[in-house]
Amino acid sequence: TKLTHVATLETKSTCCYCGVGCGVIIESDGKQVTGVRGDPDHPANFGKLCSKGSNLHLSAKPLLQQQVRALYPELRSDRTQTRQRINWESCLDSMADQFATTIKEHGPDSVGFYISGQLLTEDYYVFNKLAKGLIGTNNIDSNSRLCMSSAVAGYKQTLGSDAPPCSYEDIDHTDLLFIAGSNTAFAHPILYRRIERARENNPHLKMIVVDPRRTDTARDADLHLAILPGTDVALFHGLLHLCLWEDYLNHDFIAEHTEGFAEFKKTVRDFTPAKVAQICGIKEQDLHLAAQWFGQAKAVLSLYCQGLNQSASGTAKNAALINLHLATGQIGKPGAGPFSLTGQPNAMGGREVGGMANLLSGHRDLNKPEHRAEVAALWGIDEVPAQPGKTAVELFEAVRLGEIKLLWIVCTNPAQSMPDQHLIREALLKAELVIVQEAYASTATVPYADILLPASTWSEKSGTVTNSERRISRVNGAISAPGEARHDWEIACQFAQKLALKLNKKSPDFSYAKPEEIWNEHRASTRRRDLDITGLSYDILQKQGPQQWPFPEGANQGKARLYEDHQFATSNGRARFINVAYSPTIEKTNPHYPFALNTGRLRDQWHGMSRTGTVAQLFAHAAEPVIEMAAQDMERRFIKDGDLVEVSNGRGMQRFIASASDSLQTGQTFVAMHWGEEFVSGETDQNRIGLGVNTLSNPAIDPDSKQPELKHSAIKITKAECP
Ligand code: SF4
Repeated sequence: TKLTHVATLETKSTCCYCGVGCGVIIESDGKQVTGVRGDPDHPANFGKLCSKGSNLHLSAKPLLQQQVRALYPELRSDRTQTRQRINWESCLDSMADQFATTIKEHGPDSVGFYISGQLLTEDYYVFNKLAKGLIGTNNIDSNSRLCMSSAVAGYKQTLGSDAPPCSYEDIDHTDLLFIAGSNTAFAHPILYRRIERARENNPHLKMIVVDPRRTDTARDADLHLAILPGTDVALFHGLLHLCLWEDYLNHDFIAEHTEGFAEFKKTVRDFTPAKVAQICGIKEQDLHLAAQWFGQAKAVLSLYCQGLNQSASGTAKNAALINLHLATGQIGKPGAGPFSLTGQPNAMGGREVGGMANLLSGHRDLNKPEHRAEVAALWGIDEVPAQPGKTAVELFEAVRLGEIKLLWIVCTNPAQSMPDQHLIREALLKAELVIVQEAYASTATVPYADILLPASTWSEKSGTVTNSERRISRVNGAISAPGEARHDWEIACQFAQKLALKLNKKSPDFSYAKPEEIWNEHRASTRRRDLDITGLSYDILQKQGPQQWPFPEGANQGKARLYEDHQFATSNGRARFINVAYSPTIEKTNPHYPFALNTGRLRDQWHGMSRTGTVAQLFAHAAEPVIEMAAQDMERRFIKDGDLVEVSNGRGMQRFIASASDSLQTGQTFVAMHWGEEFVSGETDQNRIGLGVNTLSNPAIDPDSKQPELKHSAIKITKAECP
């Protein structure tokens, strides 16, 4: 923080929205945030900010803070009562009592934690240590399960490590951008500015976009492959089939640096252009053109996101795309590689510290005894439990079934974001104790809280985050948190110390004085791991700016690109072709439910809008939730633009305003995921029009990544009578 001549304090920090991870400069008077601008020195954005980032300061206005923030701990003794304000000590004592009693009576797996990719790395680290190290349960998962776990599984299966191999600067060196399942223009706007600039500078740079919708990104493409929902694996196999046929393969690379190609080749032989065109609903000539561009480009950079990940075959989609890169040798060189974009600001940091049900600190795996032993030694405990934890959808199901009795939700809003909302809400009512740790008192999950713990948020808290290109940036607080809100890591540590006394067992250390001490412990856990950051420090991050991992001891900078030596992170150093099968979406449209429902993001909103929803300017782009439909489908059903329609399937019903869209093919629909519980006028049951689009979305999960199929459900649509 530095003092400028007009007595404005300037604090360098990081935007708290998407995984691009832009650097910001917070302007404040020490008490209030007065402005925000892009940090010209930050390599993710070089001073630019998108509409969300440049309005960050408006969400931190003091009056708004008072209206929407959780300010004091609150507790209710039973559910017939409203929560009452309580002091922190009594609140944490009560929580520790309830945890200790439940753990003693029902065992450590009777409690669970559901945390968030919005947390800082240090917060994530201590919650993971609390669950796995002190309590002895792996029942801790993150909302990152909903956004990137298929990318993690895809990388690990093929390349041996959860490490995106590319950098943003690869956009400047590529000849072909292959964007699959990502509306980058909306979801990662500053990265998209970089793409636009690269295309201006290099007229030969081509862009293929794979997306069922004609999004803003797809409209800019040289070739848009508008595949039918869920057919990505067939498309990628079809492209590889043509690369084989036209001999676009890099035979030396395959022979020297990979394994499993011979087996995989047999699978893709079946994916003839005619068959793929029919499965995907695209023209054969477009498939040929895409294969030619992919096969002949000197450098191909694939960018992909939720369109591949949020699927019951998300891991297969990731692996099939990486197979294409391996077969053509498009990895480990400038401008090339499979580059998954993370949705949340610190989904990557959560992965690094193992803050998920199947992971451990330093990119270790829970299912490996040697990794559990290493983490137990780091934490000074006897063992880390081997029993796998419940992943997001499984966790709430276990709560609903009464197996998990106490649930602690941190910085996330499952009563809006999880699929099949009725089951989630049933689970929240069934739990014996729901603790919600939140900065915002306005989320759909807060009414279910028996205990509300007020947390600090952006502009108030300090630590680190890691963006999509493995770059670690400092987050710095510029002002104090309002009311009695505390930092997430502090709450976890204070609770852990109380619980350890009540459990009367050997506890790992939770006596951290500041986030840097937690980060240093995390840093030590990465020694000789793929993400080794033992050469990095808060001091270096502060003085030299954000750095990419790995950054081992002795290094003076991080690595922009992985696998340049073609040594992969597998046991024999070879990348693996994964012989994935094509599986259609779990639900098929049928005469009863004839429409495919796709969900996604708008340019100016973020997640459940707890922050962006407080900024009036951000509603100029889209003011209300609508269901987008093809005009022909509306005409056939006598639905006019602006009509209220009922959208339903076996999981529930939701009312939306219908909106004609030229971005959709017939039979397809789209709803933004930002709006939750909506009322037409006044909050009465009669006026409730639904709980948001996740009333309808499918909780089916990918067998490897356990990520749910949020991108596809079958629905029917009828005109509604106004309530
Ligand atoms: Fe923030 Fe993402 Fe926009 Fe950058 S692109 S300013 S990180 S929301």
